[in-house]
Amino acid sequence: VIDIIAFDADDTLWHNETLYVRSQERFRQLLATYHPEERVLQSLYETEMRNLPLYGYGIKGFALSMIETAIRLSDGRIQSTEIAEIVHLAKEMLGAPVDLLDHVAEVIPALSRLCRLMLITKGDLRDQEAKLARSGLASCFSAVEIVREKSTDIYRTLLNRHGIEPQRFLMVGNSLRSDVLPIVELGGHAVHIPYHITWVHEVVDVHEETVSGYVQLAHIGQLPAYVAGLCGNKVQKRA
Ligand SMILES: [Mg+2]
Repeated sequence: VIDIIAFDADDTLWHNETLYVRSQERFRQLLATYHPEERVLQSLYETEMRNLPLYGYGIKGFALSMIETAIRLSDGRIQSTEIAEIVHLAKEMLGAPVDLLDHVAEVIPALSRLCRLMLITKGDLRDQEAKLARSGLASCFSAVEIVREKSTDIYRTLLNRHGIEPQRFLMVGNSLRSDVLPIVELGGHAVHIPYHITWVHEVVDVHEETVSGYVQLAHIGQLPAYVAGLCGNKVQKRA
């Protein structure tokens, strides 16, 4: 029996990494006059990783890391108009329309009629809440958790707080590192639905022989059949 199905948000329900890739490309072009282009993105990524403990995940931290990288790579010659362009890039990302992945608009409401759904996402509280509101899916979720990191410990705390047994919990997401492996470790069920781009930070080296206990689907449209198979008709009817 599954009591609750939890979903990751970015690149599971709506496109996200594509926004970052687009901004990185514009950032690379912006700095091209100051620095060899091939090292710009590596340098930006290193800055982001250094800043992660301070800023956490999300667009605002990404923007500060772009500015810091621009100042460093240009030896302080970057112009204020160029800094303004970076700020503008970040604001565009924050205001971007929420673009749902295929099948999400049908699958999430349908599953929400069968079972309690939860959203578990990491990142910036305000941005994630705003995206959920714009997605039109907010009413489908009986709980929303925006966490600082998706570690086994944080999932354990979260499941305890909601009184959920891991064996009755299913997590669905695009990141093996954040959405799948911690849940497998806790003894829960997990479904991995890869997105066509994975942020380097989320890449893990997994050999399928060594990790079992999760299922990979090609797209979220396949999820209702998987859930039906997993539960028979024993999905906990939504209260
Ligand atoms: Mg994700």
